Amino acid sequence: MYWEKYSHSQIKAKVFECLSKNTNYRTEAIIGIPATYLDSSIFYEDAPFLKDAPFLSTLIANPNHIGVHTLGSEQEDFFTGTQEMEKEVIKICAEEIFKAEPQTYDGYVASGGTEANIEALWIYRNYFTAEFKANIRQIAVIYSEDTHYSIPKGIDLLNLQGIEIAVNLQSRTIDIHELEQKVNQALANGVNYFIVNVNMSTTMFGSVDDIDAVTDLLNALNIHYKLHVDAAFGGFIYPFIHTHHPFHFKNENISSFSLDGHKMLQAPYGTGIFLIRKHLLKYVCTNEANYVKGKDFTLCGSRSGANAVCLWMILHTHGSVEWTQKMQQLISRTSFICQRLDALQIRHFRNPYLNIVTINANYISERIAEKFHLVPDTHTGVVNYYKIVVMPHVEQAIINDFLSELEKYQSIKLM
Ligand SMILES: *Cc1c(COP(=O)(O)O)cnc(C)c1O
Repeated sequence: MYWEKYSHSQIKAKVFECLSKNTNYRTEAIIGIPATYLDSSIFYEDAPFLKDAPFLSTLIANPNHIGVHTLGSEQEDFFTGTQEMEKEVIKICAEEIFKAEPQTYDGYVASGGTEANIEALWIYRNYFTAEFKANIRQIAVIYSEDTHYSIPKGIDLLNLQGIEIAVNLQSRTIDIHELEQKVNQALANGVNYFIVNVNMSTTMFGSVDDIDAVTDLLNALNIHYKLHVDAAFGGFIYPFIHTHHPFHFKNENISSFSLDGHKMLQAPYGTGIFLIRKHLLKYVCTNEANYVKGKDFTLCGSRSGANAVCLWMILHTHGSVEWTQKMQQLISRTSFICQRLDALQIRHFRNPYLNIVTINANYISERIAEKFHLVPDTHTGVVNYYKIVVMPHVEQAIINDFLSELEKYQSIKLM
């Protein structure tokens, strides 16, 4: 895995060069589209610092990245400058992080992991109806109970049926026996086509499903399925820490990935990434999108090019080597916490390749949970777990403070 680190001035030069290739509302005769720059009574285009602020300059120029730009030349051509940068972002994610061969994938900068997950469900639903004349009741979505709620949300929107699988309580991963039982039951009930979501890290536990166990079973059952990997949380950390994992495009069982830019990557909200093997996006082509050159294949329609430019800037400000080091630092802070929890005999769950620690709620007082803004597994029932996410702002000093509070609470409990 490799991509280059650039200096601030190289990044600036590239962004302004790409912006200059876009159609410019201020200098060109553009009277055909319902689009313009940001309101200049609020966003001054002549603020002197803008020449050193490539992201803000992009935001103000307001390029629309509507459509999907990996599909080829028949695309919107007003903003090809910054759309090139989006293609470079998709290339890094698909080819470097997820080992795709060039020209074998499509992708776009979505509004977040939610959109990317729903896009995947939408594509596979339409794939089964188009290719196998499947009726909606013959299609089901399989996901674990620890899966992000965007999957049930998508199932609801797309009028699909969901099959929720329990997790193994030790590993918090899809329980393979229950999976087998529920798939067989679904087959008996006339379900023939399966959309399978596998988590490359759940939000609550940082657990990673055993994809090989899942696909070995599905392949042995010889059923029709399409598999999506939800890497919204884990995508920018897990593959950088675990060097021999099975979550990549060389794994033929996988068709698509979701990633979030607004979590580990620290991009502004509204930034996700959807990646999929070539020749699958066509199942969600909206032919009625007549005013969009090249049609639309996304859920969101118009979207800000500034998000894609921001991703490009973040990826190239660090480069892959420095990004890996940055993630390793989070991992070593997380490991430090776990060692101390072990020493205090506090029960917790942690995947060694992720920066989430989920602590059994018995060891946490309400005061500690409140003081450190720990997130419970539920806001409506009995709390079983609280989680810590070691994000970049979680410095050693906060960790030490937290651990000493935990230690005090432990000793009070033992008295
Ligand atoms: C955050 C997250 C999502 C998507 O959530 P957004 O709010 O749309 O970014 C999906 N799956 C997982 C595992 C997540 O952690």
